[in-house]
Amino acid sequence: MRALRIAVLFIALAAGCFAQGRKTLDVYVIDVEGGNATLFVSPTGESLLMDTGNFGPMPAERDSGRIVEAMKDAGITQIDHLIITHWHGDHFGGLAALAAKVPIREYIDHGPNTQPAEIADTFLKDVYPGLIAKAKHTVAKPGDRIALGGVDVRVVAAAGQQIKTPIAGGGGQNPACANFKPIDNNAEDPMSVGIHATFGKFRTVHLGDNTRNIEFQMMCPVNKLGTVDVLLGLHHGQATSNSEVMIHALRPRVGIMNDGTRKGGEPDTMKAVYSSPGFEDLWQIHFSLLSGTEYSAPGYFIANTTDENPNALPVAPIPASAPGPNVPPPPAHNGKAYWIKLAAQQDGTFTVTNTRNGFSKTYRAAR
Ligand SMILES: [Zn+2]
Repeated sequence: MRALRIAVLFIALAAGCFAQGRKTLDVYVIDVEGGNATLFVSPTGESLLMDTGNFGPMPAERDSGRIVEAMKDAGITQIDHLIITHWHGDHFGGLAALAAKVPIREYIDHGPNTQPAEIADTFLKDVYPGLIAKAKHTVAKPGDRIALGGVDVRVVAAAGQQIKTPIAGGGGQNPACANFKPIDNNAEDPMSVGIHATFGKFRTVHLGDNTRNIEFQMMCPVNKLGTVDVLLGLHHGQATSNSEVMIHALRPRVGIMNDGTRKGGEPDTMKAVYSSPGFEDLWQIHFSLLSGTEYSAPGYFIANTTDENPNALPVAPIPASAPGPNVPPPPAHNGKAYWIKLAAQQDGTFTVTNTRNGFSKTYRAAR
């Protein structure tokens, strides 16, 4: 027993040391209820936040507060680089509330809004200029590098354009291209800023809400991104993205999906993910009713439930509601929210942790 106590004490001390001398690239996939907020923290403590959660007084306050909680866990007090991937409310919505809480040193976006919408247009006219006036402002171009101590971050997509030359490890022919089917989409998702990050042997991508047609341009006929260890975001798991053209060519071992209780995580996406060669585990920010338990990851890979848990979760997927004013709200989740944390080492080994239940899994560098 005494030996055990000493061992526990030693582990606690060691954990404290590592918090100060961070050696990993840490990524927090923060629960913003089907929006996006993904925080990268380099071993030097430099930070890159992609998106800020949802629009509206209560959601913006809630989601920016959840981002600040993750920042505290990471031991950082400012955002060095903020990417707003595109001008949809589930991505820029928490920005003004976040900027009131913490300093933001650089704003990166794709340029003007392409899908006229009152909330985005008003925000861009009345609020955004005041924020960027106090910081650096960059309109992203494919090929740009973002300085993030020890981590090589490249912009691979922005404003409908992609990198022209493959990044290291990319460039192979992609056999899935022959079966590709284009899809209709809104104007703004395909404008998303997408990034690729390399840390030693570890590789990951987050493509914002880029859609199937952009995936095709990025991955066909030549795969410009190569393979990755972890695929982040997945456009909430929506079926307008996540073609086999992209997922099966990226060959991720792990996916971490920013879905909502009734947003994304759709059967077509789940099928593309789970049939991808070499795929091991999908981690979800929420259980999605759109997949039921039929196409869901097991519960221990899911970070969040709802404020009032149903007694039984449906096996069958429910159909996605057509957008419009008469859609009933999804199950509420405004109470405690849990992030999924990814910690990557330079040798390519990485660990993913579900902070709701403490379930954690380490993926050894094998390839
Ligand atoms: Zn979105």
